[in-house]
Amino acid sequence: GAVVHWFKCDLRTQDNKGLHMASERAREKGVPLICMHIISPQDFEAHFTSPVRVDFVLRTLEVLKEDLGKLDIPLYVETIEKRKVIPGRILELLKEWNASHLYANAEYEVDELRREAKMVHSCLENGIAMEVVADTCVVSPGELSSGTGKQYSVYSPWFRAWTAHVHSNTYLLDLFDAPNKNPPNARANLTKLFDTAIPAAPANKKLTDEEKKRFRSMWPPGEHEAQARLSKFATQAISSYRDKRNLPAACATSSLSVHFASGTLSARTAIRTARSHNTSKSLNAGQEGIQTWISEVAWRDFYKHVLAHWPYVCMNKPFKPEYTNIEWEYNSAHFAAWCEGRTGYPIVDAAMRQLNHCGYMHNRCRMIVASFLAKHLLIDWRMGERYFMEHLVDGDFASNNGGWGFSASTGVDPQPYFRIFNPLLQSEKFDKEGVYIRKWVKELEGVEGSAIHEPYARGMGKKAREQGYPERIVEHKESRERCLLRYKQGLGRE
Ligand code: FAD
Repeated sequence: GAVVHWFKCDLRTQDNKGLHMASERAREKGVPLICMHIISPQDFEAHFTSPVRVDFVLRTLEVLKEDLGKLDIPLYVETIEKRKVIPGRILELLKEWNASHLYANAEYEVDELRREAKMVHSCLENGIAMEVVADTCVVSPGELSSGTGKQYSVYSPWFRAWTAHVHSNTYLLDLFDAPNKNPPNARANLTKLFDTAIPAAPANKKLTDEEKKRFRSMWPPGEHEAQARLSKFATQAISSYRDKRNLPAACATSSLSVHFASGTLSARTAIRTARSHNTSKSLNAGQEGIQTWISEVAWRDFYKHVLAHWPYVCMNKPFKPEYTNIEWEYNSAHFAAWCEGRTGYPIVDAAMRQLNHCGYMHNRCRMIVASFLAKHLLIDWRMGERYFMEHLVDGDFASNNGGWGFSASTGVDPQPYFRIFNPLLQSEKFDKEGVYIRKWVKELEGVEGSAIHEPYARGMGKKAREQGYPERIVEHKESRERCLLRYKQGLGRE
């Protein structure tokens, strides 16, 4: 017999609830624990998973395989082309391994939830117990509801409830130990499984050699890296997080999103660690930094709760149905300029180039470029949402969809539609000296002073033109008016 853990977006051995439970079950039954991971090119296609994220996952699997190997636990990895075939193939493997139990941590996207619900039944019909475990959030969806018994759709009251819930259920932050070592004969009996290699990226998600080199030095894989990054952040930067987190040039955020997204770090561990650095009893700047960071990590929980409660957000629908009828522009030249960072708005262009170069973008800039696409260009926000998924190393459906809904004012707890970010003011406020812009927009490197925020209007047009920096593709004032009108029309208010 055997007990099996199916790794998905939880690629770590420490503080992994499903894996821990599987390991305990195996120990109780005196059978080995087998771990598996399925790679599905069709799933990647359906979720627009970026090649850089696929590469990160594959490299993380190498780390995971090695760590598990030290515990005599095999990690079996198989590529399955057609996603429909996955449940059947897993059942076949479970039978082949004579497994009595299958454990997996829950994912809240509709396709995954439905698939797992069906699998629980088909396993049961075959005498196998499948347990789907709530692990990814600190407070799981379903745990919090407002006074009237409804799911919160506004973050602030939700966060108050979240905080109170964590305070009164401190076990929610307890650590789940890494799995036990397998029995001594496991290695000999399961040699074939130990011998399977981690596959290369599927054809639809390959990186070029140049990209491999670039991304691999930026995003070292695995849970040890995540732990190291977390402790460095918690000891060196978290205390100034509140004051600097909105400044893209400051590198003041944790850069842990890739690890949360792939599950190389658990949210529990992140929050436990942050709290443990809070040594002060009085409210000081350092403590406020910690509080603010915890409230940001909680946004991740919030958007997963939203996804679990309103699954139609997974189906290309805006959270607010009344926003369905906005008439979007499908101007492909504008969309291409946005994607490539050639809009003529330096802060927007810097941010898009950071995304294209790193597979990552600073949070403030994500809000600026998302708002710019949806409101200044009036391009369907779902095109931007998709472009983000196709390029982000930390692409996560719930957070990305939530962020786009916020920025386009179509989502849960959104910006009111009539609040339209002015890219120039954002730029002057959050990248005052233009350090971030000069880093990413090479054509503007030589532009000095405040002209960096709008070179053509501030006497640096000649230089910008010589260097090949484009003029604005739309004007702020006109775009703003067009946007207000179109949103009003869409809402039937005009
Ligand atoms: P830190 O500031 O150090 O925050 C710590 C962690 O808290 C993050 O790693 C993340 O897990 C969580 N977090 C912080 N802010 C948010 C937020 N607004 N929403 C949800 N979780 C948050 N985040 C993703 O992980 N994946 C995405 O695909 C994604 N897409 C986004 C799209 C848009 C349009 C916007 C506005 C935001 C998006 N975010 C997304 C949220 C946020 O921008 C990133 O989590 C953050 O920039 C990651 O950097 P960091 O790890 O240094 O964050």
